[in-house]
Amino acid sequence: MATEVAGVERRAPNRLFIGGEWVDAAGGATFETVHPATGETLAAVAEAGPADVDAAVAAARRAFDEGAWVRLDAADRARILWRMADLVEARREELARLEVLDNGKPLREAQIDITQAADAFRYYAGWCTKLQGDTIPVRGNVLNYTLREPLGVVGAIIPWNFPLLMASWKVAPALACANTVVLKPAEQTPLSALELAAIGAEAGLPPGVLNVVTGYGEVAGAALVRHPDVDKIAFTGSTAVGRTIMREAAETLKKVSLELGGKSPNIVFEDADLEEAARGAFSGIFYNAGQCCTAGSRLLVQRSVHDALLEKLAERARKLQPGDPLDPKTRIGPLVSREQLERVLGYIEQGRSEGARLVAGGGQAAYAGELRGYWVEPTIFADVTPAHVIAREEIFGPVLAVMPFDDEEDAVRIANETVYGLAAAIWTSNLKRAHRMARRIHAGTIWVNTYHPLDAASPFGGYKQSGYGRELGASALDLYTQIKSVWIDLS
Ligand code: ADP
Repeated sequence: MATEVAGVERRAPNRLFIGGEWVDAAGGATFETVHPATGETLAAVAEAGPADVDAAVAAARRAFDEGAWVRLDAADRARILWRMADLVEARREELARLEVLDNGKPLREAQIDITQAADAFRYYAGWCTKLQGDTIPVRGNVLNYTLREPLGVVGAIIPWNFPLLMASWKVAPALACANTVVLKPAEQTPLSALELAAIGAEAGLPPGVLNVVTGYGEVAGAALVRHPDVDKIAFTGSTAVGRTIMREAAETLKKVSLELGGKSPNIVFEDADLEEAARGAFSGIFYNAGQCCTAGSRLLVQRSVHDALLEKLAERARKLQPGDPLDPKTRIGPLVSREQLERVLGYIEQGRSEGARLVAGGGQAAYAGELRGYWVEPTIFADVTPAHVIAREEIFGPVLAVMPFDDEEDAVRIANETVYGLAAAIWTSNLKRAHRMARRIHAGTIWVNTYHPLDAASPFGGYKQSGYGRELGASALDLYTQIKSVWIDLS
């Protein structure tokens, strides 16, 4: 069964994983996935249609109803999830390389993804034995208690920017809460989800507990969202698709949790350590080539240090050169697809035409001397105003909009002037200011004097149009369980 992609060994074939079996799409259709650094085809993968989604949902429903997972002792469920963590970790290098090939991100970043994916499985393995209810002192001679029960079949739809990690953030808690899952990875990056299916099987998940359908969002994803036998959709992706999913899910009144886009403010005060702030601003926008929902894409800098910080940042950006993503020294990769490349170049053009001042980058980048693959130069615009499109819309690429501010009040006003609310960072040496700002910024995550840290144990999610529901931490248990109140008459 083992296959291989560009020298990376794999356990999974490029087929759908349904009810514990590897199967072709019902119509035999396939689609190609490419290596974004070069645009070369990596593999042809089964393209699920509605019939395949039906089969996967039926397998998940059967697995749920027959109870091999939900009635397993919690401690044994925990053991299997823990084993999945171990297997992910044991295959860290292989999985990281596969992710590099499919997504284009630098190896160093892919390794971090895989480590964090293993963390998610281990963290939620621990919760299996801690999902408990309450006994409640109600009126009367009655025993009232609650049971925390699974929802049933969870449809997980994930994006391409952190493929295995985003899959883990949904699959691990959903399984820990004893649900069964149909996972649909993004069409740009289907390979690591198939490996996760193989890992689940090897770890001992009963057939049908984790199913993977590769295919297009508007077809396979949409079929999953509409399916009457799916109890919940857990989605990470664009705000536009999140809106569609919410609308489509209304028909069957599915539970939905959404982790959507962002336009996160990264706010540097004059009392900050400027060297550190420049480093944070750099990784805030250029990590994963800016393809992070939490990217610090709006840099707000207090006027007195604006020029100094901008200069430090521009100097770093100009040094950031395309390199083979599989080379551990490479620090930036290409964008994921041609579509994304064109989108991002369009925003750069818009920034120029709106009168923002380009201080670094500004175009497509060559790779190994040729214009191939989907590379964009790390780009910085200064003199951006909150009204500019590049200050308002999520670009999802290595494009930074820099804006000056005068004081705390001004910073808060500009920072909150967005429909999004996923994350924000504050750079200051003033403790009181740090806490004040943390309260005043409308976002689900606030970083102070750092950018990007996340942990399986800490809740993550959006305010405003960045979505709702909190993944990770204990909060995610609420996304994958429902509470039942039981009344026993004792009279
Ligand atoms: P991006 O814009 O970053 O590519 P999307 O929001 O388009 O992200 O995609 C995120 C995930 O949602 C992918 O798995 C994609 O296939 C899926 N998707 C896209 N459109 C739909 C849809 N109409 N219904 C369900 N899933 C969809």
